[in-house]
Amino acid sequence: MALKRPIIFVGPPGAGKGTQARRLAEFYGVPHLSTGEMLRDHVARGTELGQRAKPLMERGELVPDDIVLGIVEERIARADCASSFVFDGFPRTMPQAQTLDEILKRRNFRSPLVVNFKVDHDTLVYRIAGRRTCSIGGEVYNVHERPPKVEGRCDKDGGELIQRSDDRAEVVRDRLAAFDRQTMPLVDYYRSTGDLAEVDGSADVEEVSKRLSEILARHGADGNRA
Ligand SMILES: [Zn+2]
Repeated sequence: MALKRPIIFVGPPGAGKGTQARRLAEFYGVPHLSTGEMLRDHVARGTELGQRAKPLMERGELVPDDIVLGIVEERIARADCASSFVFDGFPRTMPQAQTLDEILKRRNFRSPLVVNFKVDHDTLVYRIAGRRTCSIGGEVYNVHERPPKVEGRCDKDGGELIQRSDDRAEVVRDRLAAFDRQTMPLVDYYRSTGDLAEVDGSADVEEVSKRLSEILARHGADGNRA
C-alpha cells in the first residue's frame, strides 16, 4: 500500500494531528514532516538556511516564510518524499499555502489532500490543561487521559510533573483564538480548491485513525483505490 498524494493535517493545538500523523507515516512508510524539526536539523547541520534561522530561533522570533519554504522545498525533493509525505501543522497561513502549492506543482506532486481536525475549544482546553510535563526528562502525561502511576510524579524517573505555562487554560484559550484567526482562511482556501476533508478530532485515537483511512481511500490518496 502506498500513498499517492501529499497529506496535510491542519487543526488547532491539541486536536491530535501529531499522533495521527505519526501513525499514518508509520503505517504507509512515508515521512512525517514538521517544520520545527526541519528547522532544527538545518541549524544543526549549519546550512545556509539554518544559519539564517538560528539567531531568530534563539531570540524566540518567528522564522520568515522564505526560509521555512526553502527548507520545505529542499526536504520534499528528497527521494523518500517521492509520492507522498505527511505535513503536520504546516502550512499555517495563506501565503505559506499558496507558495506550497507552487512548489508542489513545480515538483510534479499531485494536489495535496488536506484534513482539518475539528475539535471544539472547550474540549481542547480540557485536554491541554490536563497536560503535565516531567521536570527532569520532559515526558508528557495527562491527568485525564494518561495519568502517571503516582500523582504528580514521572513514571520513568520520579521527576516532578509540572504544568507548562503554555498549557494553562487561559493561555490555551488565547492560542486557540489566534489559531482561528490565522488558519480559518486556510481551511476556506482548501475547501474552495476541493482538497479539504474534515475529521472529528474529539473521537478516540483508534476511531480517528479509522476515519482517516476512509478519507484517504475516498479521496484517491490511498494507492489501492487511486
Ligand atoms: Zn521523567
